[in-house]
Amino acid sequence: MDCLFCKILNQEIPAQIVYEDDKVIAFNDINPEAPTHVLIIPRKHIATINDIEAQDCELVGHMVATAAKIAKQAGFADDGYRTVFNCNEDGGQTVYHIHLHLLGGKPMGWPPYQEKLKTA
Ligand code: AMP
Ligand code: ZN
Repeated sequence: MDCLFCKILNQEIPAQIVYEDDKVIAFNDINPEAPTHVLIIPRKHIATINDIEAQDCELVGHMVATAAKIAKQAGFADDGYRTVFNCNEDGGQTVYHIHLHLLGGKPMGWPPYQEKLKTA
């Protein structure tokens, strides 16, 4: 399968891994948008969050809990941080193996989009 993150899982492409267990790995984003920008991915290939099935829900919960664990270890859990799943084109997804972005170490802006929605 031609999947960038499966290649990282199979060690065909290097990554700076910050956490791993039997279900997930976490590594530094190659193009960080915050002082800490980590991607948490499941070892199981799931293309988008639309493809999450009932039996995957515990795994996805584990991804979220892993983000919180890394935030605590990094020291910004109490200050706060951002977690994001992008989905498909409008969501800005570029790698089709689900990944939870963990961004921390600075205050985050909100909302994340540039243009205000026009209301009728
Ligand atoms: P998304 O746009 O939500 O699909 O996020 C994909 C993320 O993967 C982006 O933030 C990229 O910077 C990141 N990325 C792409 N290639 C690599 C790589 N080889 N190692 C680490 N992160 C990567
Ligand atoms: Zn994959």
